[in-house]
Amino acid sequence: MSIMVPSTTPALIPPGRQTLDSALHQLDQAAEHLGLDDGLRTMLATPRRSLTVSVPVRREDGRLDVVQGFRVQHNVSRGPAKGGLRFHPTTDLDEVTALAMWMTWKCALVGIPYGGAKGGVAVDPTGLTTRELERLTRRYVSEIMPLIGPEKDIPAPDVGTDEQTMAWIMDTYSVSAGYAVPGVVTGKPATLGGSLGRSGATSLGVQIAALAALGRSPEGVTVAVQGFGKVGALAAQHLSDAGCKVVAVSDVTGAVHARGGLDIARLRAYVSETGGVRGFHHGDAMSHDDLFELDVDVLVPAALEGAITEVNAPRIRARLIVEGANGPTTPAADEILAASGTTVVPDILANAGGVIVSYLEWVQNMQAYSWSAGEVEGKMRDLLLNAFTEVRSVAAERAMTLRQAAHVIGVGRVADAHQMRGLYP
Ligand code: NAD
Repeated sequence: MSIMVPSTTPALIPPGRQTLDSALHQLDQAAEHLGLDDGLRTMLATPRRSLTVSVPVRREDGRLDVVQGFRVQHNVSRGPAKGGLRFHPTTDLDEVTALAMWMTWKCALVGIPYGGAKGGVAVDPTGLTTRELERLTRRYVSEIMPLIGPEKDIPAPDVGTDEQTMAWIMDTYSVSAGYAVPGVVTGKPATLGGSLGRSGATSLGVQIAALAALGRSPEGVTVAVQGFGKVGALAAQHLSDAGCKVVAVSDVTGAVHARGGLDIARLRAYVSETGGVRGFHHGDAMSHDDLFELDVDVLVPAALEGAITEVNAPRIRARLIVEGANGPTTPAADEILAASGTTVVPDILANAGGVIVSYLEWVQNMQAYSWSAGEVEGKMRDLLLNAFTEVRSVAAERAMTLRQAAHVIGVGRVADAHQMRGLYP
């Protein structure tokens, strides 16, 4: 007897498509609430420009590999497109489109004059030498060159990319322009016009959002963090510095747990030496799945999309989830968490500290001027907390989750921009 498998079985849907479905579901809910007409809904659901490129990379042994790259500009109605660049083996056009869409709502939500974009290259950067990575980055940039520029589309770091990647992009673009163009990327090294405070901005924003949502003293509050990369490691550090007890963290290599709290500075030093949290002696190894089920106050997913699903959501005991990652919670998990009274501070709010400081970096570049670390942090804190207050009050007024409220505000602002500008021709 053959077994019928429903076409909606999640395992059969590619992860990128599932991510895009989540983003479209969230848009749909917001559009319904806002009463947007079908034409506008379709506009908002469709990226303005998507470019797929083939990137040839000469390997050290002389071989030629060809990898796929993407750049998606989801929306440019409120300003230039803005969004990170991801190097990850499973990235695809659907995933990049979803991430670009979330950038659009995020920028509108925190009130910065950008549209949303994202880039991706389907490659495992850990399998490449530095010279191979540089060649790959420069070639990818030359392929997407017609799309990017300080007034058009401004990349930034994301999963698998960093300050060095941004420096190569800035150089490739500048060589082509014939003069230095620091404003073409954000998250660059300070020596090339990077802003003070940019590298830790996403993580500091996660801490600010977590403390605002907690609404009580952070002293002794227990935290688990999934993902110990650029966002997760510094989020753990900032939360620990604020007085929280970070009892568990994970990355691709494994997960570690210490009931009395991990020494995050020591763990960060261990990870920069060994490449991962696995084997850290001042804590016990645990499984990736168990981390989600720990009896902690706060859970910070800071790895990739789709980490919290209908499978593990019912077992989550944390009462507060603060999304450092983009799209870590599926819509089905969201419903389970809402029903169990778990507060979720959504990605487009919780991790917006990064794009806010990217915006501040770009403003400094465009003025050829720089602000102190304190000025940058103060401006970021104000923008983030204003958005937090707005989201919380819309959620309370309209009996919504924080994610629904954040989308209603973000999508609503983009819809207004479209309506005010009108349609050309
Ligand atoms: P990163 O590459 O620096 O770190 C990713 C981390 O996640 C690594 O520690 C990796 O080992 C870990 N990881 C991957 N899969 C895992 C799994 N299944 N279980 C446990 N750990 C796993 O990337 P990042 O820049 O820190 O980005 C992390 C998330 O934050 C992404 O969703 C990204 O889009 C989002 N984000 C990043 C920024 C930024 O400024 N870098 C800004 C906003 C949002």
